[in-house]
Amino acid sequence: MTNSSSTIAANADTAESRRRGPPVNNGALSLWQQSARSYSNLEANRNSILPSESNYVIIGSGIASGLLTYELIQAGVSGEDILLLEAREAASGASSRNPGHILANERVVLEKVNQFVRQHNVPCDFNYTVKHYTGEEAAKKTRIAGVVESYEWPAGSSHPAKLAQWLLDTVIEKGVRLYTHCPVVRVTEDRSSGKNPSISSPLWDVHTPRGTNRTAKVVYCTNGFTGHLLPHLAPHLFHILPAS
Ligand SMILES: Cc1cc2nc3c(=O)[nH]c(=O)nc-3n(C[C@H](O)[C@H](O)[C@H](O)COP(=O)(O)OP(=O)(O)OC[C@H]3O[C@@H](n4cnc5c(N)ncnc54)[C@H](O)[C@@H]3O)c2cc1C
Repeated sequence: MTNSSSTIAANADTAESRRRGPPVNNGALSLWQQSARSYSNLEANRNSILPSESNYVIIGSGIASGLLTYELIQAGVSGEDILLLEAREAASGASSRNPGHILANERVVLEKVNQFVRQHNVPCDFNYTVKHYTGEEAAKKTRIAGVVESYEWPAGSSHPAKLAQWLLDTVIEKGVRLYTHCPVVRVTEDRSSGKNPSISSPLWDVHTPRGTNRTAKVVYCTNGFTGHLLPHLAPHLFHILPAS
């Protein structure tokens, strides 16, 4: 999702906005995360000074962010023009917490992931086990007359944290800068527009506790934590919170 209008204003500091605020930093580590602690960019630029200007800011460092950044670079954007801002350690969200299933009923996704992982030799313990049957064979396997196609599970599986980390490594090698422990607290339109000829308008100020970055484009890859940055989406996002 990119900024497309000036509706992105400073967020009200209400109990509701705090409840939907940036990710908490004390979440338990998933099994995947526990087995990927040696990742060299886990705490990338944790203590570095945040640059004051950039062409692209991508908020979040999960699989959506990694893949989008990868595709931007494939499309010709220079990695050095891109900042990734992550509230916690690298790829600490759902991308490192899900079970790693790539289900056969999402056939296009399964095929694309299979193709991507094999093409790039991504070391993410990918396991392609799905079997696909069509026509008579499918009918025989399922014992349902007239069935067109069927799948035999358990389909594909991967180590999701390793997949997300590989994507981050790959774009970092191309010059992308990842700043971990750098939560974005709000995004405002920069009405004064610094008139920097190297950055096209409109400009956005991306505010973090470590400083503000002025940028031409903001992309939100923040998953369920988007409501505090884009309040108009908040009513459509629901967090499952542990009982207190
Ligand atoms: C329980 C569960 C099971 C799932 N099972 C599967 C499965 O088996 N197979 C499958 O394919 N998918 C599964 N999914 C879905 C999959 O995990 C997600 O679709 C995918 O990981 C989302 O990636 P993402 O990059 O959008 O989000 P995330 O990986 O959550 O990344 C978002 C990142 O943004 C950061 N962030 C958020 N707000 C800010 C901010 N203000 N400033 C800076 N950083 C911020 C977060 O810290 C986080 O690192 C599952 C999801 C869950 C929750």
